Amino acid sequence: MNCPLCKNQLESFEHIWTCTQNVQKIKEILYNAKMKITKNIQKKNNNNKFSPKKLEHNQLWFNNQSNASLTAIDLIKSFV
Ligand SMILES: [Zn+2]
Repeated sequence: MNCPLCKNQLESFEHIWTCTQNVQKIKEILYNAKMKITKNIQKKNNNNKFSPKKLEHNQLWFNNQSNASLTAIDLIKSFV
């Protein structure tokens, strides 16, 4: 079955994350995941100063269609 968003690629789990029609949403999801992780770390460590910047990692959060970051995908899988 083809992707309902772009209609020109096979709909697969990986494609959902790399679909050109879905990129903006993925960015939001990644951002939200990052915020969630930050809050969790702050709570666990009683450290409100922990900054989401500490989670910046190009390899992990990098997400575009030619190089879908599998690490980010795997991470998100554990959230949703
Ligand atoms: Zn698509």
